[in-house]
Amino acid sequence: MLVVMRHDATPEEIEGVMRTIREMGYEAQATPGRQRTAIGLIGNDGKVNSDRVESLPGVLEIIHVSQPYKQVSREWRPENTVVTLDNGTRIGAGEVCVMAGPCSVESEAQIIGIAHRLRDAGATILRGGAFKPRTSPYSFQGMAEEGLKLLAKAREETGMAVVTEAIDNESLDLVAKYADIVQIGARNMQNFSLLRRAGRAGKPVLLKRGMAATVKDLLLSAEYLLAEGNPHVILCERGVRGFDTHTRNLLDLTAIPVVKSLSHLPIIADPSHGTGLRAKVTPMARAAVAAGADGLMIEVHPDPDRALSDGAQSLFPEQFGELMEQIAVIADAIGSRLVPPLVPREARAAGSA
Ligand code: PEP
Ligand code: MN
Repeated sequence: MLVVMRHDATPEEIEGVMRTIREMGYEAQATPGRQRTAIGLIGNDGKVNSDRVESLPGVLEIIHVSQPYKQVSREWRPENTVVTLDNGTRIGAGEVCVMAGPCSVESEAQIIGIAHRLRDAGATILRGGAFKPRTSPYSFQGMAEEGLKLLAKAREETGMAVVTEAIDNESLDLVAKYADIVQIGARNMQNFSLLRRAGRAGKPVLLKRGMAATVKDLLLSAEYLLAEGNPHVILCERGVRGFDTHTRNLLDLTAIPVVKSLSHLPIIADPSHGTGLRAKVTPMARAAVAAGADGLMIEVHPDPDRALSDGAQSLFPEQFGELMEQIAVIADAIGSRLVPPLVPREARAAGSA
């Protein structure tokens, strides 16, 4: 339930509504808006009797949130959530952001070298796993903290923001220390204790759709993050399990407009894990931008044939450059644009000399 206050409601009237909600046994959360304050009632699992609140002074209207998720719903917050990173990248502001990089951080030369190429092609966020949730225990599991340090070094050198995955409580604390965005992967989308911890980590969270999760499941998982007080959440469609073996997963691009109508949170698409096939990544990246995605996550490797994970779906750097040029045109055609590229440090230094 959302209580919308009149634009001339006094602080005492707002406090009166909050007190009444608490007396009814729920939590109250005030969101001051440009025009008026809205007070959300949290903690209910069904329709709340609003009689007591309706008649309080200063109340304009009561909106019953019809969905099981509350704070992530558009009913709760009609305006889009915009997540702003330290390097100026805004996600959800009507621009297409691009997160790119190898599946795993493998060495200093690999991650620093590719970061420069990706930044020069226009990506503003660097991806790379340091903790890898691998299907087989014998596969490469990631460089752990050493990998996080290399990502931080790449950020230092290129100005790119860093997104990387946390797979458990221990890695979450480390990832939150080094990264700009904490990624919760498909396999952990319903790891509710990890979600709660991520909601308290003090960093934006990229939440990937589970491979057997409905859009409702995804939004309810996001609700865990917001319920812990973290409004900076980015959703990611990365494909669900299908019956057709031609692709690794079934990239559900309808989820993009569906989520946009149900929620104010930004949603990006990951055609790399969504298809599992290098040749299918670019067409589906183009389609995701055309569908209105707020961004893309793309795996790119300097030498995909020698990648320690997901080489078959990783683009060559040249292919990534072409993809960036194509999606810029598509974004333009739908009244959007790519997040402006970062200015290389050398150029910044030359400009200020
Ligand atoms: C990844 O992004 O590296 C990853 C493992 O993705 P997902 O959780 O979508 O499988
Ligand atoms: Mn991968």
